[in-house]
Amino acid sequence: MSRFSGVQGAPPIEVFALTRRYTEDKHPNKVNLGVGAYRTDEGKPWVLPVVRRAEKLIAEDQSLNHEYLPVLGLDSASAGATRMVLGPDSLALKEGRGVGIQCLSGTGSLRVGAEFLAQILKYSVFYYSSPTWGNHKLIFMNAGFKEAKTYRYWDAQNRKLDLAGMLEDLRNAPENSVIILHAIAHNPTGVDPTEAEWKEIADVIEEKKLFPFLDCAYQGFASGDLDKDAFAVRYFEKRGFEFLCAQSFAKNFGLYNERIGNLTLVTKDAETISNIKSQITLLIRGMYSNPPSHGARVVSMVLNDPEMFEEWKGCIREMSGRIITMRKALRDRLEKLGTPGQWNHITDQIGMFSFTGLSEKQSMHLIDEYHIYLLKSGRINICGLTTSNVDYVAECIDATVR
Ligand code: PMP
Repeated sequence: MSRFSGVQGAPPIEVFALTRRYTEDKHPNKVNLGVGAYRTDEGKPWVLPVVRRAEKLIAEDQSLNHEYLPVLGLDSASAGATRMVLGPDSLALKEGRGVGIQCLSGTGSLRVGAEFLAQILKYSVFYYSSPTWGNHKLIFMNAGFKEAKTYRYWDAQNRKLDLAGMLEDLRNAPENSVIILHAIAHNPTGVDPTEAEWKEIADVIEEKKLFPFLDCAYQGFASGDLDKDAFAVRYFEKRGFEFLCAQSFAKNFGLYNERIGNLTLVTKDAETISNIKSQITLLIRGMYSNPPSHGARVVSMVLNDPEMFEEWKGCIREMSGRIITMRKALRDRLEKLGTPGQWNHITDQIGMFSFTGLSEKQSMHLIDEYHIYLLKSGRINICGLTTSNVDYVAECIDATVR
C-alpha cells in the first residue's frame, strides 16, 4: 500500500490534452486551432530572426557566465519591459513610482503579483472576466486568494462586450477586490473595450476602490503597434491609479519556453518602492529564488538596442499582419459559402484568438469528423490557419453549421 494511493487524478488541462490528440492524429488534413502559439503560413513555429541574432551575440559574448541573476531578475530587461508597456513619457517612471520585476513569463508575473496582493496587502477577493484564460483562477487561488468571482464580459447572443453587465458586476464588488483585466487582445473572446469603454471601466474601479491587475500577454499582437496595444495600461497610469501589470514575452518575442515576463507595479508614492521590492524579494526567494537568464538577455538586448528594437517591431507587424490576413480569409470563405449566421465577428475580433460562436457540440464535431482541433468553447487560434488549410476549415465549419 503506497502512501500515495489516495491521490486522485487531477482533471486534464484542455489545451494540452487537445494538442496531444492532434499530435497522435494521423489524418493528412488535420489542423490545430487549439494551441496558443504563433505559426507561420507553413504551419511552423517561428523563431524571430532578431531573436536568433541576439542569441548568437549572447552565445559569443565571453563576458557572460552562468552566475545567478538577482532575485528580481536582470535590471536592464525589467526596466526595458516596464518602459515598453508604460511608454517613454510615463510620469510614474519619471517620478520613480514604477518598478519592473523579471518573472517567469506572464503566468509567473501574475503569480508573484497575486502573492504580493494576498500575502502582503491581505487582499482576499479577485474577479476575472467570464470567460477568461483558463489559468487565472488557479494562479490566484494558489497564490492565497480566498474567493474567486466573475464579472460578465461576453454577450454571447450579440457576440460583443457586455459592458453594462461588466460595470454592474464591478459596481457590486467589495472594496479592495482585485480586478483582473486583459490589457489587450482578450483571451478567449478577441473582444476588447473601446477607449471610451475603458474610461467607464476605470471610473467604476476608481469609485468603488477596486484594485486593477492588468494582464498584458499580447502587446503588439492586436494592432501590430506596441504603443497602440498599450493603451489601457497607459490610460490607467495617466489617471493616477495604483496597479499591477503582468507582461509576457512568450507571444510577441516567440520565447514561449524561456519563461520571460515582467511584473510592473505603479504606486502613488515613490517612497514605498524600496519596501515593496524587499517584500517581493522575499516572496520570490521562497518560491524559486531567482529567474533564468537566457530570455531576459535576449529581451534586454532587443529592447535596449534601437536598431534591433526596430527589427523586432517589424517581426511583430509580420505576425499581426498574418493574423489579420487569415481572419479576412476565413470570413471571406464562410461568406462565399453562404454559411448560415453572421461572420463579421471573425474580423471584428482582435489578437490571436477568435471566439467563433460555434457551440460545444459543433466544436466536438469538427474535431471528431474533420480532424480540426479547437477548444470546446469554440475558441480558435487564428495562427493555426494557413493559405493551404483555410478552404478546408471553412468548408468543414460550413458543413458543421448546416
Ligand atoms: N494571460 C493570458 C490572457 C494568456 O493568454 C497567456 C498565455 N496563454 C498568459 C497570460 C501567459 O502565458 P505565459 O505564462 O506563457 O507567458
